[in-house]
This record gives sequence, structure tokens and C-alpha cells, in this order.
Amino acid sequence: MSNLGTAQNPLRAAIVGSGPSGFYAAEALLESKQTVLVDMFERLASPFGLVRSGVAPDHPKLKEPIRVYQQIAESPQFRFLGNVTVGRDISVEELKGCYHAVIFACGAETDRKLGIPGEHLAGSHAATEFVGWYNGHPDYRDLVFDLSHETAVVIGQGNVAVDVCRILCKTVDELRHTDIAGHALEVLAQSRIRDVYMIGRRGPAQAKFTHQELRELGELADCDPILVADDLELNPASREELADRHNRASSKSYEVLQAFAARPAPTRHRRCHIQFLKSPKALKGEGRLERVVLVRNCLEGEPSQQVARETGEVEELACGVLFRSIGYRGAAIPGVPFDDRRGVIPNQDGRIIDGQNVVPGLYVTGWIKRGPTGIIGTNRADSVATVASLLADLPHLPAGAKSGAGGLTALLQNRTVRVVSYADWQKIDAAEVRRGAAAGKPREKFTSVEGMLKVIVDSE
Ligand code: NAP
Repeated sequence: MSNLGTAQNPLRAAIVGSGPSGFYAAEALLESKQTVLVDMFERLASPFGLVRSGVAPDHPKLKEPIRVYQQIAESPQFRFLGNVTVGRDISVEELKGCYHAVIFACGAETDRKLGIPGEHLAGSHAATEFVGWYNGHPDYRDLVFDLSHETAVVIGQGNVAVDVCRILCKTVDELRHTDIAGHALEVLAQSRIRDVYMIGRRGPAQAKFTHQELRELGELADCDPILVADDLELNPASREELADRHNRASSKSYEVLQAFAARPAPTRHRRCHIQFLKSPKALKGEGRLERVVLVRNCLEGEPSQQVARETGEVEELACGVLFRSIGYRGAAIPGVPFDDRRGVIPNQDGRIIDGQNVVPGLYVTGWIKRGPTGIIGTNRADSVATVASLLADLPHLPAGAKSGAGGLTALLQNRTVRVVSYADWQKIDAAEVRRGAAAGKPREKFTSVEGMLKVIVDSE
């Protein structure tokens, strides 16, 4: 009988990534009946993944799960190792040598491309970059977004697209007291954008945004939502979709869209146009983006499976900046199988597989397991399921004692990696809150790893 998971031989688990799925995996492990020691590896010096760098700054309530993550992080069985990139600073093989199980919870770090001519013109961006930039993520801090034009286009109609439209359409006063990065607030304060177009390839019944997020576009201080009533006409299959009681969320969004279309003529400084059944065919301009070529679509297929088909009718829309908001995409980690087509780590019930074979001791959860869908809470059930697979495997995992992070200390030191502990992070956190207080913000984030490490050094 294996004694793995007992006080004599605790299960040593590494979690790679410190976003929601990573913390929910840690929670499930720590709440299990086994004795478990969890080490969480994070490439940034700060934890919390997209809750810190993805959730919009003007949505503080959505950041509340951080309180739960803080409690998990303060457990004596938990250790945070920030500023360590798995696959670069330490290899997956080295991790496997120190842990009985490794759970990859590293999210979807890149974005999907449109694959159309002109996509790489200056002025054409991934929405995910803009989101990282206004949230002070160190990878995106130095990007330049030229908002000196009057028209911005956002391709896609998910909640990220709504976030981007809202941030572009809000006044500085609406953003000033959020935790938006200071550099972003400065650029947004100079923005000349007056018209923002959020363009979907399918119809109003298929839009992915949720009604709560959509409704906010009608509650902005100096922006009107614009919708042409004709755009809300539905084909029979779409009517059937909205009548389906499982589709209540979409019918609520449709009601919000109807209310937008019925509003009186716009009077505000900015306008957010919501348009359907159009796909970008090409981006054009001399040296930089000047216009987007759009093709009109129609819908084909059975209810709930309708796809956009081009009609051949083409129009051009002049714009100075465009954000493709068509989904995040997972990135491969050296030493871990990867499904390049789907952008996920292939798995069966959270057990990583290589071809048909399960790779013993390697697990996956969150967006890098199932793709970039669902809200923060969706990751909880996902991580509970992965941890259930891991715990079911316990009798079959090699039971020899493992060192955990202790076995990596010398190695990381030799590689001059300054590991950021949870106590270190708490100092950075407190410094951010202090910096923000002066400006009436919940925090002013450090936007470079060097800036964060300096806080730690200064406190020593
Ligand atoms: P998403 O919800 O999957 O939306 C992606 C959008 O891109 C859809 O409208 C999709 O249209 C469109 N699209 C995909 N490929 C396209 C193409 N080639 N050309 C044109 N359009 C294309 O993704 P997301 O907005 O990135 O959000 C990711 C997840 O995070 C979602 O689950 C979202 O709800 C969540 N999130 C939640 C919040 C919040 O709760 N406030 C905020 C942000 C994000 P089709 O439907 O036709 O594919």
C-alpha cells in the first residue's frame, strides 16, 4: 500500500500558473483528505493571472475572488514561487523530479489571428494586448496605441470586445479612480476617438457578450450606443434559438439591443456602434491602417449551429485603429504535449496525454485545458475535476519521497533567478496600494518586474 499523501510522505504537487484555475486547483488539493504540499510557479512577480491583468479596471467586483486566493496562499501547506518561468528557468523534467504531480494552469497567453491581408499594419492590434496594456501587464506596458484618430473598430462580440469598447468610450473621469495603469489613463485622456464600431460576423442572437456587460454600454457618461433597428431582424432559425429556454441569456441580450435601437437620436460626444453580420476581409492603408474592408454575411445552418456565409456585398469603413477581439489562444510549453490546432494541452479528464498515452504525473486545468471560454468561476469546477483525476491516480503514482521547491533552490540560484515569495508579493501589493492612494485609486500597479523587485530589495 502506498503511503503517498500521508503525513510521513506528503503528496508534493506543483501548479504552473497563478490565475483562477491554478488557485482553484490548489484549493481542491488542500481541501482533500490527503496530506498535500502545494508549490505554485508563476512567471510574473505578481499572482492572480487574468483577475489582475484581464478583468477590466472598472469591474472591481469581478476581482473579489482574489480574497479567496489570498486565503489559499496563506495556508502553511502552500508556497508561491513568482518570477520563475517553467520551460525556461526550470524545465518540466526538473519539475517532475521534485514533485509527484505537476498541474499546468497557465491559461491562454496569446491571441487568435484573423488571417487576412493587412492584419499586421500599424494600428491593427489584438484586443488582448490592449487589455494587458491598460491593466499594466509588464509584457504589454511598452506597446503604443495611437488613439489620435476618430474611428476605432473592434472585431468580435464577446465580453472582451465589450470591455475594449467601454474603455475606449468612457470619459477619463469614469476611469480615474479605478486601478487602470497610469500610462493608459494618460493616453486615453488624449484620445480623439468619437466612433467605436463593435462588429460581429454573425447576428444579434449569436453574439457572445452577456447582457450585464452589454447593458453597461448604454450607461456611459458621454457615449450613446447606436444600433440600426433593421439589424435586429431575425431569420427563423435565430428566432428559434432565442425562443429556446436554455438560451435565456441571449434573449436578455437581445432585449438590451432592442432597447438601444429604440433610444432617441444620439447627443453625446462618443458613439458605440454595434453591427452584425459583417466580417473583415482586409485591412488597408499606406504604411498604417486607414480602413477595413468588410463583407456582409448571411446565416446558414440549423438553429444553434448557424455559421456566417459571405454574400459578396462589400463595404469599406475608414478607421485609425482596430482591435481583433476573437479569442485568446494557449501557448505551448517546452516539454509538454500541445494541440497546436486547438491551442490547448491534450488531456483526458485533466490527465495530459501524448497521442493516446497518459503522461504519468502531468495534469492540466483551466483555459489551457478546455480553451478560452467561461467566466472566472467556471475554472473552479474544472480544477476540482482535474484534482479528482489526480487523487484517483494516487495509488499508481511513484510514491518515493520528493523534495518540492527545496530541490530547486540551488538550481534557481545558479541560474540567477530571484524567486518572489508570497511574503515578497505582499510587500509589492502594499506598495501598489500606497502608490494608488495618492491618486484616489485602489492601487497603482508596478508595470515592470524590475519595479516590483526593487520594492523587495528596498524593504530588506
Ligand atoms: P468569446 O466570448 O469567445 O468571443 C469571441 C468573439 O469573436 C465571438 O463574437 C466570435 O464570433 C468572434 N470571432 C471568432 N473568430 C472570428 C473571426 N475569424 N472573425 C470574426 N469574428 C470572430 O471570447 P472573448 O471575448 O475573448 O472572451 C473569452 C472568455 O472570457 C469568455 O468566456 C468571456 O465571457 C470571458 N470574459 C468575461 C468577462 C466578464 O464576465 N465581464 C469579461 C471578459 C471576458 P462567433 O460567435 O461567430 O465565433
